[in-house]
Amino acid sequence: MKKLLLLPGDGVGPEVMREAKRLIDWFVRRRGLAFEIEEDLVGGAAIDARGMPLSDSTIALARAADAVLFGAVGGPKWADIGFDRRPEIAILGLRQSLGLFANLRPAAVYDPLVSASPLRPEIVRGLDIMIVRESTGGIYFGEPRGIETLPDGQKRGVNTEIYSTSEIERVGRVAFELARRRRGAVASVEKSNVMESGLLWRQTVTALRDREYPDVALTHVLADNCAMQLVREPRQFDVIVTANLFGDLLSDLASQLTGSLGMLPSATLGELQPDGKRHALYEPIHGSAPDIAGRGIANPLAQILSFAMLLRYSLDMESEAALVERAVESVLAKGLRTADIMSSGAARVGTSVMGESILRELEKIEAAAA
Ligand code: NAD
Repeated sequence: MKKLLLLPGDGVGPEVMREAKRLIDWFVRRRGLAFEIEEDLVGGAAIDARGMPLSDSTIALARAADAVLFGAVGGPKWADIGFDRRPEIAILGLRQSLGLFANLRPAAVYDPLVSASPLRPEIVRGLDIMIVRESTGGIYFGEPRGIETLPDGQKRGVNTEIYSTSEIERVGRVAFELARRRRGAVASVEKSNVMESGLLWRQTVTALRDREYPDVALTHVLADNCAMQLVREPRQFDVIVTANLFGDLLSDLASQLTGSLGMLPSATLGELQPDGKRHALYEPIHGSAPDIAGRGIANPLAQILSFAMLLRYSLDMESEAALVERAVESVLAKGLRTADIMSSGAARVGTSVMGESILRELEKIEAAAA
């Protein structure tokens, strides 16, 4: 029995989570998967009900779960609340409490959506990259930090890029393990030409590959060159592993190659524990989209694809994950589109019709295989 915690959150979060729940129900009814499901409030919804965006009881549920499926948090209603009580604290708090240090951001282009990319079809057709970003260390957390006043009266802002070998090794292992399940290639990205922390990153990743992953191909790419290559020839990459700051920038860049925010899932993973489990949280990369919330037009596919990632990486259910991804591809190939990915000649549908169509497609794929 696998334990899942669902945290729909605010805005379009509950709308897209509803479609993921129908998918989970489908797997229970048709595939006999056994889930114990808990659901809780986070973000603005939790502020309204309990006065805080993330409670200890929610953290306890997340710790006990095999995986957490998160929607989105935030919205104008809570814009004026204090900085340390805003809805977005929920996601940061969960990451911190569960020790989630590896952020996985796939950027995949589905063939029917190839024209949504700002790049030419021949550059992005078949694109399938996984960016692994270290997300609890580096310059966003390093000490010393702050703004100080110098003796001559001017000010100086300081942040520190800092990584230890163990921090580099644990995120490196995530990347190498992923590569083994994909096309077997890792590109490690840093600035070893100008930063000592980058040099240590390069040396540590190389030693790790030689020691534990000799079967995986490793290349080293300087971060500025990586940004250029992602636009010039993105299909050269399989798995990219990099530090917090570079990963922040490069994963946003890569997400735009697909041209559709409403399609992109993500995962954040914690340390592998002695019992073989690791804490993990799956969520769409989009926010709560207050501008379209409540209108039934949000694209549920990023949430649905986040559930597919959960099946693959937390539950080791590769064939079920691939089944969901196939259903998404077929529904798109039939010309169904939510407003955000609409193109001429396609049929515009709302959130629930898109979710329903995925279920119908799953039924068809099952029937054809029987
Ligand atoms: P956003 O991602 O919510 O929206 C950006 C644009 O994309 C909007 O035009 C929106 O309508 C559209 N969009 C987003 N998701 C969509 C979907 N599923 N289907 C169709 N269109 C979609 O980003 P924002 O507007 O900058 O932020 C809104 C709120 O969300 C803010 O409070 C922000 O802090 C929060 N946020 C939360 C998370 C999270 O929960 N992890 C992430 C990003 C932003």
